[in-house]
Amino acid sequence: MSTPHPVITIDGPAASGKSSIARLVAQRLGYTYVNTGNMYRAMTWAVLKSDVDPNDADAVRNAAAGIVLESPVVEGKTQVCIAAHTLTDAELNSDPVNRAVSLVARVPEVRERLVAEQRALIAIGPLVMEGRDIGSVVFPHSPHKIYVDASEEVRASRRGAQGHADQIAERDRLDKQRKNSPLVIPDGATVIDNSHITLDQAVEQVIAALRLQ
Ligand code: C5P
Repeated sequence: MSTPHPVITIDGPAASGKSSIARLVAQRLGYTYVNTGNMYRAMTWAVLKSDVDPNDADAVRNAAAGIVLESPVVEGKTQVCIAAHTLTDAELNSDPVNRAVSLVARVPEVRERLVAEQRALIAIGPLVMEGRDIGSVVFPHSPHKIYVDASEEVRASRRGAQGHADQIAERDRLDKQRKNSPLVIPDGATVIDNSHITLDQAVEQVIAALRLQ
């Protein structure tokens, strides 16, 4: 199944540097940048606001069914709005959201909704979309797949430098072990080890790996 516009898929574990890379690649190519982690974070923020225990999958499913999420494009990238409120970076990256997001993201109905939302974004035009299952599930037929990795030490120190309390090892464990669309290296993806290269070098490696016409 081909898409009407190219989609560059960028997957990888928490704090691997894929967001910075994806944003710059999108800018270089003039594509729209989509951070799907922010969609799962927005859903989690809304679920927590309705006082639901994120460990209770049934309660998460019920709460999520009533949440209205939209992804308008502003200045070349998608924002996430819940019931017309645009979520701030502080809300998306708060400690409670960091703690709960992988629990909310493993609920199949939450994933189905967000995957449908992500696929619909192709109507906008060419995309750089990053997340955990973009090359494996959301756009498995894209010929432009990247997987960004980095050592656990490097990832933990990057996240610490951003000032966030984030149990990235625990999030990775949940993301890799969940039944529904776990984090994997998608078939056909080019793997980039971002442990010891600069952001510019990583962007160059991505551009070089793409087979865009
Ligand atoms: O990319 P980021 O670290 O902000 O993603 C937050 C969480 O959202 C991930 O740890 C994962 O649980 C979930 N996620 C996902 N599938 C995606 C993107 C993010 O399950 N495509």
